[in-house]
Amino acid sequence: MSGSLGAAAARAAALLVGNDITSTGMPVQTASTHIFGPVPSRRLGRSLGLDLVPLKTCSFDCLYCELGRTPEPSAARRAWVPAAVLERELTAWFSRDSVPPCDFVTLSGSGEPTLNRDLPEIVAAVRRRTSLPLALLTNSSLFSDPEVRRAARLVDVVLPSLDAVTPEIFRRINRPAAGIDILDIIAGLEAFRAEFAGEIWLEILFCAGINDGEAEIDRLAAVVRRLGADRVQLNTVARPGAYAVARPVDGAFLARVRPLFGEHGEIVAPFCGLGVVTGPISDRAAIIVDVLRRRPCTATDLRNITGMPAAELIKLLELLADDGIVVGRSHGGEIFFEATGGGYRVADRSAGTDNL
Ligand code: SF4
Repeated sequence: MSGSLGAAAARAAALLVGNDITSTGMPVQTASTHIFGPVPSRRLGRSLGLDLVPLKTCSFDCLYCELGRTPEPSAARRAWVPAAVLERELTAWFSRDSVPPCDFVTLSGSGEPTLNRDLPEIVAAVRRRTSLPLALLTNSSLFSDPEVRRAARLVDVVLPSLDAVTPEIFRRINRPAAGIDILDIIAGLEAFRAEFAGEIWLEILFCAGINDGEAEIDRLAAVVRRLGADRVQLNTVARPGAYAVARPVDGAFLARVRPLFGEHGEIVAPFCGLGVVTGPISDRAAIIVDVLRRRPCTATDLRNITGMPAAELIKLLELLADDGIVVGRSHGGEIFFEATGGGYRVADRSAGTDNL
């Protein structure tokens, strides 16, 4: 947390992240920093997230990214979060008195998880701690690398994204690091299908006016047929994106194009019915801060995650907003809350269409 927080805000932040408070009124970081949730996922139910890279370490700078802009897109692979660190956090997390129910452990987080070179060791560490199914969310950018495909084969479900197949449209929507070629990605995904016996749930995210033209949809559908995904999940911009130009397509569009993606095509419905995560208030509050650091949420989302009464939740959000710890932004007629803490402020989404 920023040192500029007032004492009251520090106490509120400490309460919300379940940390201790020092005699100076500032919180002491005691919570795990790479495990978050479980968070509601429209695709995975209750997803316990593992953050494998620092915030916005990514090979893309997608127009629609909920985490803001990528300062320097890069395909460099490193042990960004070493397996030994994650294993310690997993051991602590799964040893707690009350472990909330989860449907998946998901390798994802604040950037592209396949950029973590320790992926095989991290998968092994998760398997040692839990029998929950393991999912990998990926932008597919490194699937031309056999080492990345070998690591991805270790999980149960791989959820790659493919938003465009025409190089120019790919560059416009995903804004990749230099040297990343969409044709290599498609070849990598084809190779992976031949190698992987688990489930592949391919996501296509449509942005109005960017990748929703008839010709691109036809080309996408042709490529997707070759990829043999078990599910083809059609999505659109549901939350504030990194660039103001990222706008959603409407439901009628998704319904019209869905049949083009064959019997496995499905529209990803808005999440509902998570149920209530039980546990002490500090646990539920810790989840709020974790979630808002990683994705914008409405008050309804946060109620679904925490089970907190609306009045109590709104009061906490107001307090945090007053102290600059969270901000609310309007998107699609709803208010989404985002965290501003940890020295990081979500990129200004009100900016125009520079460099697009
Ligand atoms: S949406 Fe995913 S792939 Fe795109 S910039 Fe954000 S983290 Fe990277």
